[in-house]
Amino acid sequence: MIDFRQAREWMVVQQIAGRGIRDAHVLSAMRQVPREEFVPAYLRDCAYDDNALPIASQQAISQPIVVAQMIEAAELGPHDRVLDIGTGSGYAAAIAAAIAAHVDSVERDPLLADTARETLARLGIANVTVHLGDGTLGLAAYAPYDAIIAGAGGPRVPRAWRSQLSVGGRIVMPVGRERHHQQLIKLVRRGEHDYHEYSFGDVSFVPLIGDDGWAPY
Ligand code: SAH
Repeated sequence: MIDFRQAREWMVVQQIAGRGIRDAHVLSAMRQVPREEFVPAYLRDCAYDDNALPIASQQAISQPIVVAQMIEAAELGPHDRVLDIGTGSGYAAAIAAAIAAHVDSVERDPLLADTARETLARLGIANVTVHLGDGTLGLAAYAPYDAIIAGAGGPRVPRAWRSQLSVGGRIVMPVGRERHHQQLIKLVRRGEHDYHEYSFGDVSFVPLIGDDGWAPY
């Protein structure tokens, strides 16, 4: 029987802090959120391995270091309102919610949305709302957001996300010309019409499928 608490601590020390993540909010969130609750039962013992893992509907829970890098890049703080696109297992939303005030998370797959809602409720995480829909359109009704993060990669930053970002807000998402190969980018809204883009390294996420993303298979 694995001691998950100890495995989680190892993950934070070796995979997260050991690879240069310094944001105290991110380190504390990763110490708190039980990743073993977000993976399929047959993979619980692998929950703190250094890789992405399969979840239902041919999707994946991202590698822990990738979640940490994205959330560090998004510079989340305790008062932030966050939009998370591609709920998947709900793990990244839970990490963001351990730092920020509220997270709206959008998932296009009904099975994944339901499972994530159940997991978050079971863990008593009350500041995440899971919405079923096409996240490439953002969530106009609840905008603006201080940060928008996406666990799926698209061909470009969806237009709606730019307008739903508050001035000073950050978008962190994988962007690339191929469905499974992207660069992690950060877009900062510096003024009403002033956006600045930074590019991080190569990443490989599942495709962002929707009106302003990739077409379904
Ligand atoms: N952050 C998630 C990663 C899940 S994988 C986690 O921690 O588990 C990416 C998810 O994005 C998949 O569940 C996929 O169904 C979803 N997705 C893809 N395109 C989407 C879209 N346009 N809107 C909402 N969700 C989308």
